[in-house]
Amino acid sequence: MHEKSIALLNHAVADELAAVHQYMYFHFHLDDQGYDALASLFKRTAIMEMGHVEILAERILFLKGEVEMKAAGEVQKVTDVKEILKLARDMEDASAKDYNAKAKICAENADSATKKIFENLVGDEEKHFDQFDKEVGKIETFGDRYLALQSIDGGKSEASAD
Ligand code: FE
Ligand code: FE
Repeated sequence: MHEKSIALLNHAVADELAAVHQYMYFHFHLDDQGYDALASLFKRTAIMEMGHVEILAERILFLKGEVEMKAAGEVQKVTDVKEILKLARDMEDASAKDYNAKAKICAENADSATKKIFENLVGDEEKHFDQFDKEVGKIETFGDRYLALQSIDGGKSEASAD
């Protein structure tokens, strides 16, 4: 009866797991390159995506399904800071659109509770989109001077996130 919702939820789990992997990969590389503040931003966001996996998994189990826990894809080996932020922005944009579509399908299947979960996720992914979009914008406006600041912000962000 809830098979369609369980499939949608597992598809979302796969995307969230891929995001966790991708953002931790970005975290390691940005940390290695000395961009402490941005490295910390990706770690915090990866942890939020892990929280999304949990929300989705709880709903799957409530519907008596099984959580597949398969990442949607391989990590993209992107290490340039500007390309990282653009890719992350695009991933969030795609997630928000995908969850809007999934919410619509749930409405058609009269599964309001799963619909609500996807709608809440849209809000989170839009916030993630906004944070990465702002970083891309600041790099475009201030260029390397802004990036230089990202490497001397470490103490502050470490205290709050690491
Ligand atoms: Fe997410
Ligand atoms: Fe996100």
